[in-house]
Amino acid sequence: MSATTAPGARTQDSGSPGSYAAAVVHDFHAALEIEQVPFTALAADHIRVQIEACGLCHTDIHAAHGDWPVKPQPPFVPGHEGVGHVVELGSAVTEVTLGQRVAIPWLGYACGTCDYCVSGWETLCLQQKNTGYSIDGGFGQFATAYGRYVVAVPDVIDAIDAAPLTCAGVTTYKAVKVAGTRSSDLVAVFGVGGLGHLAIQYAKIAGGRVVAVDLYDDKLALARDLGAEFTVNATERNPAEAIQALGGADQAIALAVSPHSFEQAYGSLRRGGTLVFVALPADNEVRLPIFETVLNGITVVGSIVGTRKDLREVFELHAAGLTRVISETRPLDHVNEAIADVEAGRVAARVVLQP
Ligand SMILES: [Zn+2]
Ligand SMILES: [Zn+2]
Repeated sequence: MSATTAPGARTQDSGSPGSYAAAVVHDFHAALEIEQVPFTALAADHIRVQIEACGLCHTDIHAAHGDWPVKPQPPFVPGHEGVGHVVELGSAVTEVTLGQRVAIPWLGYACGTCDYCVSGWETLCLQQKNTGYSIDGGFGQFATAYGRYVVAVPDVIDAIDAAPLTCAGVTTYKAVKVAGTRSSDLVAVFGVGGLGHLAIQYAKIAGGRVVAVDLYDDKLALARDLGAEFTVNATERNPAEAIQALGGADQAIALAVSPHSFEQAYGSLRRGGTLVFVALPADNEVRLPIFETVLNGITVVGSIVGTRKDLREVFELHAAGLTRVISETRPLDHVNEAIADVEAGRVAARVVLQP
């Protein structure tokens, strides 16, 4: 590693040779390849992290398939739930220390000075770089990151729990904040997967009563186990009608990658209700009625991940024992099978990959 260490960089021996294993996307229409990637010199504001665990998010699958209008540039390494120890510091890094455990979230970099960055909306920064998308992510034995944009992980949190919290956790935590959930509000959570199982818990922490909607009874059983008071199997009942029968949702959080589910979530709202868009279906169109939106005073709002502050709060809640993360671990070299299982709905909540 010494040959690739930048002048002024500080290192902790990671026992690594000149390269490390990572899962690389070369082609949007082909499987990821597990290959040896050479270590590169660390920029002054970067750190190197030895990855312990990295969750597999739907966004990684969309990235690997090039599903979205703005596509990543192959070759690249996906993964934006990487958690591990800092093994090398760029010469200008002051925010973290060697040996510290950190999470490397989707917001890999922001400018720090624009109106968004200085007003608590760094997630809207136009200069942002996204981990596992525009910069290489956590699907490897090592990853590099901007020292200023990682978030410290408390020692009491297991890496297997910390990884899903780094995207699924902070994204749903922020969505509940954006929804404005207050005590006694009825919160409809559409989609009980890696995101939904955490959304249910954050809505409960905010004081809400939760109705969970999914297509699978086992996921609805999980939702009840995590505190959902009501559940609706959308293959059996129209969820909008079922939730209107409960009085309508004050907030609905759309987490399923299906535009139809977004429309059902809209239909579940009571007057004055708020629909939060979170999931990013490959099919990028949804039909909502103008007339009812105006007359019923409906708010529709998008919510994208969360800030470093939000992620600190997510870790704080978990360290305090207030949330449970449901996941299953797989070795990193099984990433393609894991992707197939997530796409087929064969995963209860989150897959966490271990290099
Ligand atoms: Zn994600
Ligand atoms: Zn900015």
